[in-house]
Amino acid sequence: MEHMENIVRLLVSSGLDKADRNQLDVLKREGPLWIAGGETRIYRRSLQVRDSVLYFVASEGTEKRLYLASARPLPRMFQGPTVQLEGVHLLKAELSTENAGHLHEVFPFTAPVSLRDKKTTIGCGDRLGLATPGHVRAAVKYDVYPVLAQQSIRELILTRRDYPGVVADATFLVFQEGYDRGYGADGDHLKTIKDIDVALAARMPMITLDLTEVMSPEPATWDGNRISVEFGKLDESTRQHVRDEYAGRTFAFAGATITFTPSEAERCALMYGRALDFSRDVDRHLKEKRGDGYDLEISIDETTAPTLPAHHLFIAAELARRGVAVNSLAPRFVGEFQKGIDYIGDTVEFERQFEVHCAIARRYGGYKVSIHSGSDKFSVYPAIGRHTGMRLHLKTAGTSWLEAVRVIARTNPALFREMLGKAFASFEEAAKLYHVTTNLAAIPDVQACADSDLERFMDAKDSRQLLHITYGGLLNDLELRGAFFQTLARNEEAHYLAVEKHMEKHLRLLGVREYPFGGYAVPTRTE
Ligand SMILES: [Zn+2]
Repeated sequence: MEHMENIVRLLVSSGLDKADRNQLDVLKREGPLWIAGGETRIYRRSLQVRDSVLYFVASEGTEKRLYLASARPLPRMFQGPTVQLEGVHLLKAELSTENAGHLHEVFPFTAPVSLRDKKTTIGCGDRLGLATPGHVRAAVKYDVYPVLAQQSIRELILTRRDYPGVVADATFLVFQEGYDRGYGADGDHLKTIKDIDVALAARMPMITLDLTEVMSPEPATWDGNRISVEFGKLDESTRQHVRDEYAGRTFAFAGATITFTPSEAERCALMYGRALDFSRDVDRHLKEKRGDGYDLEISIDETTAPTLPAHHLFIAAELARRGVAVNSLAPRFVGEFQKGIDYIGDTVEFERQFEVHCAIARRYGGYKVSIHSGSDKFSVYPAIGRHTGMRLHLKTAGTSWLEAVRVIARTNPALFREMLGKAFASFEEAAKLYHVTTNLAAIPDVQACADSDLERFMDAKDSRQLLHITYGGLLNDLELRGAFFQTLARNEEAHYLAVEKHMEKHLRLLGVREYPFGGYAVPTRTE
C-alpha cells in the first residue's frame, strides 16, 4: 500500500503530471508493464495527462484501479478513496460503471463508437471482461477495427453480467492499453425494442437485430397451392409489388443468375414481410436515439436451413426499399459453423454460394457480410477474404474464452483437470442452447494425462467444443470461479499473449492487410 503511494509521490514530484504526449510516448514504448516491485504494477501504456493531472491504471496485488495524481487539486467527478500525500493529491478510482462514464468524458477514445465507415471489423466478444488487451494488441497490427464488447442476452445471463458492466470492462482495458483508434460495442442477437433500449442506454452503438422470431419459417415447406392461398390474404399493394418486382424475374450476379418463380416470390413475401417491417421500425428507432452514430446488423443466421441466395436477395432489396441503414447482414451459410471449430461441409460449394451472397450485398447498399460463429473457420477464411474484398464483419466470441482456458491448462494443471471434469456435468444443459455435435466418448481421460499434454485438449475438436459451450456452468461454479480468476490474474500477460496470437491467426488467414511496422511501434492516429 505505502509502496504504491511512494511511487506516485515520486512520479508527481518529478513533474510527470505536467508531461506532454512525447514524453509519455517515450515511457510507453518500453513495454506494457512497470513492475514497481513486489505486488505493485503500473500499466505503462495507460499513462495520460489532462489538465495537469496524471491518470493511469495500476494494481496492488489483485486489486486494479484507475489512479489520478497531481500537485494540483483533482477533478471531483471520479469516485474512490483519496489520499493526501506531501504536496500530492491522489485518488484511487474504482473500476465502476460510473467511473467508466467519467472516463468517457475525459478521454473520448475510451467510449465505444459506430464503426459504420470502417471496412473491416471483427467482433471479439469477451465473456470474462479480461481479454481486451489481447484483442487490441492483435488489432493494432492490422487494418481492422475491433468490436470489443459484444454480448448476447444469453451470454449475459450465463456470465451474470450486464451491458453497463460489459462496456465498463472494455473501457478500462482500452484505457489500460492506451488504444485510441476506436472500438465498437455490440448488443448481440437482440429481438425486441425493449432489449435494444437496454443496450443503447449502456452506450452500445452496434445493435444486432435477430429476426428469428419475426420471420415465418413455415412457408419454406408449403406447396404452391398453400402459398397462393396465404399470399392471397396479403393486402393488394403488397401483392402487386411482389408480382411486379420479383415474380418471374431473373437477376444476374457474380456469374450466377437468380430467378424467382411466381410461387417463390410469394413464398418470400410470406416468410419475411413482417420481419422486414420490424427492421424498418428498429432502424427508425435507432436513428431517433443516435442520429447516424449506430451500426445496425440484420441477423437471419439462427434458422434451421441455410439462407438461399434468392431469399437473401429478396431481403436485401426490400430492406433497401424501406430505407433501412444496414451496416451488416448475417445470412446463414451452407455447411456448419459450429462453435469453436473449423468449418464442416463442402468448401467448394460454400465458396460458390458465398460469392453470390457477397455480390448481393454489394448491389444493395454495399453493407458488410457478417459471419457469425466465425471463429476458427480457418479453411474457409481465404474464400471469405477474397469475395468480400475485406468488406466484412467477422464475429468471434467463445474462442477467446478458450484461450483463457488454455492458459489454465499451461499454468494450473490441477484446476484444468477439475474444470474439464465439471464441464462434462454441465454439457447436457449447455447443449440445449448451442448447436454442436460433440462426441464426449472421444475425449480421453484427463486424469491419465501428463501435465505437459493438457493443452492438447484445447486443440482436439470434441474437448474444445465441450469447454466452449459449458462456460456458464464453469464460471458459476463457486469452487472453480475464484481459482480461475486468480490464476488468470497471476498470469495476466500470458493470457493477453494467448488471445493476441489466436486473434492474429484469424486476421492473417482472412488476408487482412498487415501494417508494415506492426502495432505499437507506429503512431496509432494515422487516419
Ligand atoms: Zn449469430
